[in-house]
Amino acid sequence: MEKPFNAFEMAQKQFDAAAEKLGLDQATRDLLRNSLREYHFLIPVRMDDGSYKVFRGFRVQHSDARGPCKGGIRFHPHETVDTVRALAMWMTWKTAVVDIPLGGGKGGVICDPHNLSDREQEGICRGWVRQVAVNVGHEQDVPAPDVMTHGQHMLWMMDEFERIRGAKYPGFITGKPVGMGGSLGRTEATGFGVIYTVREAMKELGLDIKKSIGAFQGFGNVSQYAVKLFREYGGKPICVSCWDQTDQTSYTFRRESGVDPDELMSITDKYGTIDKAKARKAGYEILPGDAWIEQEADLLVPAALENQISGANVGKIHKRVRIIAEGANGPTTPEADAEIHKRGIFLIPDFLCNAGGVTCSYFEQVQCNMNYFWSREEVLSKLDEKMTAGFKAVSDLARKKNIYMRDAAYLIAVTRVAEASHKRGWV
Ligand code: NAD
Repeated sequence: MEKPFNAFEMAQKQFDAAAEKLGLDQATRDLLRNSLREYHFLIPVRMDDGSYKVFRGFRVQHSDARGPCKGGIRFHPHETVDTVRALAMWMTWKTAVVDIPLGGGKGGVICDPHNLSDREQEGICRGWVRQVAVNVGHEQDVPAPDVMTHGQHMLWMMDEFERIRGAKYPGFITGKPVGMGGSLGRTEATGFGVIYTVREAMKELGLDIKKSIGAFQGFGNVSQYAVKLFREYGGKPICVSCWDQTDQTSYTFRRESGVDPDELMSITDKYGTIDKAKARKAGYEILPGDAWIEQEADLLVPAALENQISGANVGKIHKRVRIIAEGANGPTTPEADAEIHKRGIFLIPDFLCNAGGVTCSYFEQVQCNMNYFWSREEVLSKLDEKMTAGFKAVSDLARKKNIYMRDAAYLIAVTRVAEASHKRGWV
């Protein structure tokens, strides 16, 4: 029987390869291939029918060598502590590669928001904060949204944190709604960041973005705004995909003339699920979930979940594809990665490609701590600057050493975190 996918094993494998290339000493390897601290706890919640249900929650702090930990909280029925560990480690590399003064953390709760009322979700949010209130905060560890968590969840969490601490701490958590401590530009930041790196990659490869076709997986926060900016730059998004909770399967929505993100967003629910009947009416073909990967496109953007490009489907990637931009965290397995490398497809690795979210979260935290908020233009131009600089540092190293983009990103990030750990005298 095939071993089930384990994101943490994959993250450790990727780290081990970088550590080997860098010749890191054993103590630094031991420190960075594991979580620095982990909190595992139970969250009892009174349900709407009067019964009580107990949820499992986690917060993993992978490294705070470069600054307070930073990372989202995911609500997912299949959440595992190993997924959270992997995501926390990737956050450390992400904040390091774009050179923001933060570390890496991640949180999660095993639950399915589809089956929970707002009041029950509020109970989970407040319960999560109660369990870790002394271990998080703007000087220790700053949470944010991730899959199936949004601004409202962050606000409940901030409110609970402030009640416990007895003062206002808007910098405790990011991804809050604008007007309640949120930053303009945060909603679009991750998706836009993906496309800033795609724009730079296309320049490097001599591709004209205006003549390019992109196929996107997922249609949640990341994919929606990536599709939007790609289209604004003149590219043609040919398809997006989503998970359908009712049918318990995923679908690809394809339109030869191109996908209109605004039109699709108007028929998409808050979980990123597109209404099939309305999409069909608007001229979209509805194809199986993995059809996105087979499209004759210049650009593929996996922006749904981890483990989506694997040994089983990597062979389906069309020969026209020149760039894969990893909007999601960990979408490519090591086996598929080796094949992508062999085929010479230009890969923009996840922790660089989707770093726009955390970069803007960092801006949000800075604005909250100053209690002074910037315009959307200012936020997005600072974001573009950071993402472009991060991309250039990685692609310059990849070219100079003739190595794969993922390896170059790892070398830069791991070196920065290892150096911070050495300078602090930890190892
Ligand atoms: P989201 O919950 O808003 O959207 C996820 C989308 O993926 C939805 O459209 C959902 O229907 C779809 N999906 C889920 N399972 C699928 C499947 N098996 N096949 C096809 N589609 C599927 O989540 P998001 O915030 O857009 O995050 C997407 C990915 O990007 C995750 O890996 C997340 O960790 C990563 N990420 C998000 C941010 C952010 O700021 N939101 C930042 C960095 C990385």
